[in-house]
Amino acid sequence: QTKNVKDYVNHLFENVEKRNPNEPEFLQAVNEVFNSLVPVLVKNPTYIVQGILERLVEPDRTITFRVPWVDDEGKVKVNRGYRIQFNNVIGPYKGGLRFHPSVNASIIKFLGFEQIFKNSLTGQPIGGGKGGSDFDPKGKSDVEIMRFCQSFMTELTNYIGPNKDVPAGDIGVGAKEIGYMFGQYKKLRGVFEAGVLTGKAIGYGGSLGRTEATGYGTVYFVEEMLKDKGLSFDESTVVVSGSGNVSIYAMEKAMELGAKVVACSDSSGYIYHPNGINLSTVKQLKEIDNKRIYEYVLEHPDAVFVEGCSGIWSIPCDIALPCATQNELDIEAAETLLSNGVKAVGEGANMPSTQEAIDIFIDHKVLFGPGKATNAGGVSVSSLEMAQNSSRLAWTREEVDAKLQGIMKEIYRVSMKASEEYGAPGNLVVGANIAGFVKVADAMIAQGVI
Ligand code: GLU
Repeated sequence: QTKNVKDYVNHLFENVEKRNPNEPEFLQAVNEVFNSLVPVLVKNPTYIVQGILERLVEPDRTITFRVPWVDDEGKVKVNRGYRIQFNNVIGPYKGGLRFHPSVNASIIKFLGFEQIFKNSLTGQPIGGGKGGSDFDPKGKSDVEIMRFCQSFMTELTNYIGPNKDVPAGDIGVGAKEIGYMFGQYKKLRGVFEAGVLTGKAIGYGGSLGRTEATGYGTVYFVEEMLKDKGLSFDESTVVVSGSGNVSIYAMEKAMELGAKVVACSDSSGYIYHPNGINLSTVKQLKEIDNKRIYEYVLEHPDAVFVEGCSGIWSIPCDIALPCATQNELDIEAAETLLSNGVKAVGEGANMPSTQEAIDIFIDHKVLFGPGKATNAGGVSVSSLEMAQNSSRLAWTREEVDAKLQGIMKEIYRVSMKASEEYGAPGNLVVGANIAGFVKVADAMIAQGVI
């Protein structure tokens, strides 16, 4: 039986490969999910008859569009915009927008695909989507960013809405960009629909705690993994890659729980501060001054800056939190972390570990929190923002944080339970994929073949 299902899944995957050439990130994400789902399909062949996997890998629709804008010299520039609406059986499409030069069809597709399962896991009524552009905000003036966001929204507005598709931020998109896009949507539609975008500033419908949610949630999730083994963040040494929104608030929460965070990074390299990172310096550099991370060492001469990103994983630590970007932690990094005695790895970014790296962690019983579960706090609080917007209420920071903690605990519980139920106890990659999948698959069956 298992062999037949494996053959079916392999055959299906070959087909996905054929139909999606030149999309390595998407195929990587699909392969991981397919492999996890074999035991579910064995137990529940209806999913095969219903063609659930075949339907899931084909997005509801993909929108690609031109984004023309005028730079400060008066020159017209053109970028490509994307929105992928993957699956809306449990709620409106929901997922961030990424503005980064590396953005292409494969990146947006893998992110959108992952979002289906992540959003399902949160227990909130949100479907899966993602979008973005190959626009590079780095080095652009504020006015250039505004013009770009307005042009991006001029097209996107045709496809989104509070009950239809609700974008938010991701790499390169924060409250500022969301604000410019919200303004343009409002102008074009002539309505104030707070729930069309999340990650808004507090003054016009944003939620307290949204900025911190992905990073805090990542730490809350890892804390659950540690607790189960009698461990904790207290007095542990932590390495966090990245120095953007996810990384900064993961560092903040880890420090609050008594950890010493000794390193973080940006695309130019990493800083190692054995005495412990000074977070206010990082915040000043990254959130306010828009500077590179190497400037950190100017203020803290006992810290070092090293060029290049992957070297950060050679720093000995108890807990590693990859919070930068996809495939930043490869097999070599995993082996180095392992030989340095790492106890837990929690993915704050989306798919930061390669498949080979994950295999190493799982095989050697390193506690491993996959991004779909671990970083789901961001989109969870986005969903809480939508709830506040529809009820025209605003919750306190404490209320939001308590809900976030509850959600992260529940994601851990259901993922752990699924891993045990389906013969891979403690393997949260399998557990998270299965728990996220089953809810979506059952809703698809309930809603018929559409
Ligand atoms: N970009 C975040 C993620 O990867 C958040 C998405 C959202 O809030 O909609 O989940």
